[in-house]
Amino acid sequence: MTLTFQDLNLNAPLYNAIEDLGFTTPTPIQAEAFNVVSSGRDMVGIAQTGTGKTFAYMLPVLKNLKYSTQDNPRVLILVPTRELVVQVVEEIEKLSKYINNRVLGVYGGTNINTQKQAIAEGVDILVATPGRLYDLALSRVLQLKSIQKLIIDEVDVMLDLGFRHQLINIFDILPERRQNIMFSATMTQDVDVLIGDFFKSPQQVSIAVSGTPLDNISQKRYNVPNFYTKVNLLSHLLRDTGRFNKVLIFVAYKRMADRLFDTLDEAFHDELCVIHSNKTQNYRLRSIEQFRHGENRILIATDVMARGLDIDNVSQVINFDTPDYPENYMHRIGRTGRAERKGESFIFSTEKEQESITKIEALMQMQIPLIDIPENVEISTELIEEERPQIKERNNPLKRRDEDAPGPAFHEKSAKNSKENLGGSYKFKIAAKYKKPKSRGDKNYNKRNKRK
Ligand code: AMP
Repeated sequence: MTLTFQDLNLNAPLYNAIEDLGFTTPTPIQAEAFNVVSSGRDMVGIAQTGTGKTFAYMLPVLKNLKYSTQDNPRVLILVPTRELVVQVVEEIEKLSKYINNRVLGVYGGTNINTQKQAIAEGVDILVATPGRLYDLALSRVLQLKSIQKLIIDEVDVMLDLGFRHQLINIFDILPERRQNIMFSATMTQDVDVLIGDFFKSPQQVSIAVSGTPLDNISQKRYNVPNFYTKVNLLSHLLRDTGRFNKVLIFVAYKRMADRLFDTLDEAFHDELCVIHSNKTQNYRLRSIEQFRHGENRILIATDVMARGLDIDNVSQVINFDTPDYPENYMHRIGRTGRAERKGESFIFSTEKEQESITKIEALMQMQIPLIDIPENVEISTELIEEERPQIKERNNPLKRRDEDAPGPAFHEKSAKNSKENLGGSYKFKIAAKYKKPKSRGDKNYNKRNKRK
């Protein structure tokens, strides 16, 4: 049964605004999220732009926000870019046409004093980018003690832009009793970790990604025991340069992207590039361009980075790992077989990843044909750190000896050495726009070019 706006029990000002906008029925994410947001529970929504997700959280928020004369904001909406601040403010204003509330958008790169003045005049709903929000809060002009609802939109993009630290700093200064609502287009490991750390048993609401893959994508899967065998199989496939002429390889997280890049670099260095969030904006743009124009035949990418990439004629998508969330698989393979062309996709799965294969096949309601690893591909017995059996510390009175300690790859980079972008996205954007020279961070790029 499709829900109507009447089923949502809105109020007259909202109905009138919706009528003016010409909307007739709630979108699926709006219908699904409404009761969860209204209930006050933490919520994680999986939905992409264009699904109506802004109103999915704004309808229940506006319905329940009482008129108030107090100056401090009660609803905080964080979004990754200034463009999105502007867009979200506009959407809220449309919906608030007959409601007496105060909505304000603040973002970096503009005069902070003007924004301070606007805040001092009183705000109900504040829409902000994380960096500017934090600066305003530190200056004490902005008091966050009345925030009841925190909404984070496009979380996956935000984390990929390196805003994790800012988000955590903001969580620290928000009242503990609050409702957390977030939206992400894809589930990624980073998003999962953030939810686990800061959300209280959130309800997940996701709109079904179409589980029907395009007919023109031929899908195959391999059962592969471990990382190095996956590398051997991948190298074997990539050697067929005629067939594998524009290959997009997906991995789940950036450390794996770097590891795979380093491992393949020797055999394929001139043909290989990689993008993930720890690479500078310049490096990413250049990698994408080189892949797009065919200078590099192979691109390794994480899920979030590859989103929104418009690259034609990808001959194969290779899922080097099996995504936990079946929706991500759909997003991945959708990068090939575009514009009616034939595309191929391969997925490599270890024994541990079989459960995810089951979920993917359930979503698509079809089996992915399993093929045998070619005989001449060496089955490696070497294991990477994550694949080795864990040392169990429980009931072990002896401390672990040093030589048992995980190697350096096991550790996260120290905060000091981390190349995470702590808010310089604007700088990168400008640099990209004006095509500044290579940044010093692009070691691999420089190294490779020297070798050419
Ligand atoms: P969003 O996914 O929030 O970026 O919204 C995408 C577009 O859909 C926006 O232009 C909205 O104004 C529009 N929209 C939102 N809700 C509805 C609805 N129930 N019916 C028709 N259009 C909608």
